[in-house]
Amino acid sequence: MGTWNSKEQLPEAWQKLLNGALEVRERAYVPYSSFKVGAALLGEDGGVHLGCNVENAAYGPTNCAERTALFRSVADGHKPGSYAAIAVIGDTPEPITPCGVCRQVLAELCAPDMPVIMGNLRGDWRVMTVSELLPGAFSLKIEN
Ligand SMILES: [Zn+2]
Repeated sequence: MGTWNSKEQLPEAWQKLLNGALEVRERAYVPYSSFKVGAALLGEDGGVHLGCNVENAAYGPTNCAERTALFRSVADGHKPGSYAAIAVIGDTPEPITPCGVCRQVLAELCAPDMPVIMGNLRGDWRVMTVSELLPGAFSLKIEN
């Protein structure tokens, strides 16, 4: 797929997903950083699973928007690998990128060629695949 960037028109389905991420971003619980992030995970069945970041006074338990969306969908009964795309948005100068922990979780639960749509509030965006974001991801290669 390669890296896409803002010079091109973002496909409509991905723009819709990014809009979903923008909407759920408003529900973020961020009393410490005020840094709101939203994520929208598109299932292969067309369902969208939303997630926002949730902070904690002890910092360590804080959960990112991407992982909230992924964990929520697994709890709702969706199988790892049954996702078509994920969009993530935050107020960053460049399109926001998932942290290292989220990249590892994406590598575990999503196909290596699944697109990750990254955006910011200025309308900039970039798309990379899961494997582009984390080449050589750690895996135990467990077959389910
Ligand atoms: Zn993260």
